[in-house]
Amino acid sequence: MASIYELAQEKVRNALRIIEKEEYFKYIAEPEQATEFTIPVRLDNGEVEVFKAYRVKHSTARGPAKGGIRYHPLVNMDEVKTLAFLMTWKNAVVNIPYGGGKGGITLDPKKYSEREIEIITRAYARRLARIIGPDIDIPAPDVYTNPQIMAWILDEYSFIKQWEPAVITGKPLELGGIAGREESTARGAFFVLRELLKDQNIAKPRIAIQGFGNAGMNLARILAESGYNIVAVSDSRGGIYNEKGLDIEKVIDIKKEKKTVQEAEGEKISNKELLELDVDILIPAALDNQITKSNADKVKASVILEVANNPVTPEADKILEERNILVVPDILANAGGVTGSYFEWIQNREGSIWSYERFVNELERVMTTAYRDVRAVRNKYNTTMRNSAFILAVTRVLGAMRQRGWI
Ligand code: GLU
Repeated sequence: MASIYELAQEKVRNALRIIEKEEYFKYIAEPEQATEFTIPVRLDNGEVEVFKAYRVKHSTARGPAKGGIRYHPLVNMDEVKTLAFLMTWKNAVVNIPYGGGKGGITLDPKKYSEREIEIITRAYARRLARIIGPDIDIPAPDVYTNPQIMAWILDEYSFIKQWEPAVITGKPLELGGIAGREESTARGAFFVLRELLKDQNIAKPRIAIQGFGNAGMNLARILAESGYNIVAVSDSRGGIYNEKGLDIEKVIDIKKEKKTVQEAEGEKISNKELLELDVDILIPAALDNQITKSNADKVKASVILEVANNPVTPEADKILEERNILVVPDILANAGGVTGSYFEWIQNREGSIWSYERFVNELERVMTTAYRDVRAVRNKYNTTMRNSAFILAVTRVLGAMRQRGWI
């Protein structure tokens, strides 16, 4: 069976095939650097546990590597390589001056105390200090990491090197974070969806969102604030559905209080059922591999907005294409997060403080431009949005490599 990295590589190959540049694949096929650490940490009970941790730089052709850090029990080298690879193309689609990177630790954060997470993070940060930097590789949050974790990494880095808030993004506001970053994955996805709905002429869509973490919850809130009808949401424990629409403000309160959306008012459904609901827009905003060959033929939505990274498998992609379901690819749909990180990095380097209004205006400009750039490629090659986004990205990355004399 192909690894998930090989499956991701296929997306670039498809794009290169369409523009008849397959011979260039070898130049971008593998990461520039892939580092694996083992980190022994003494836990609260006195025992030492050895954690596996990773940081991968896939490409630095367009600038320093950039991408988040994930804490999850399923993190492994194949996944981190895949996510770093996707970051290269994501940063190129939105045309921000970065390459692609990603990191992670194999651990279930729900099983450790706050103090243990802090010492694991600090131990990881000490190892990262030699391979990250504002012009080298810039981490950020990803699944189950947050501004506090970014703050600990910055703190370690600042004692090993120097005070340099631009070394990491997604920080708390007190440490150089930027107003708007927390919700920017969601806000960016919202701008893309808004453009798309205009093009597709879909008025009053019914929306289902899988995942209620940073991206899913903020997107539900932003959509509800803008008058959209969200009929289902879910988190790792399951979901709720109301065909007339959910009261998202209440759902968010319940999630904060009881840690799951399932306690909110509505019909209880499973994550699997959510994906098969009769809605117009389906938004996977949790983990990868949610829509596969076993459920792609059951999807009833006409648009899938990939807010999670890699939620649709290539086999499912083919089925969805045959069924005329429009998939807005992750490297466009969720690029608002890293674009917000870019603004934070600029802010830190300027030594300035951006207003929230400036942040949102700039995000809107970057995201709508990216959407229109992808649409132009799509019109030219008459292919899927995913292929179009990859064609755009790969053309930009290869262009930079050529001008640098690498190829
Ligand atoms: N983890 C986010 C992503 O997958 C954000 C990365 C960043 O801000 O560098 O796009």
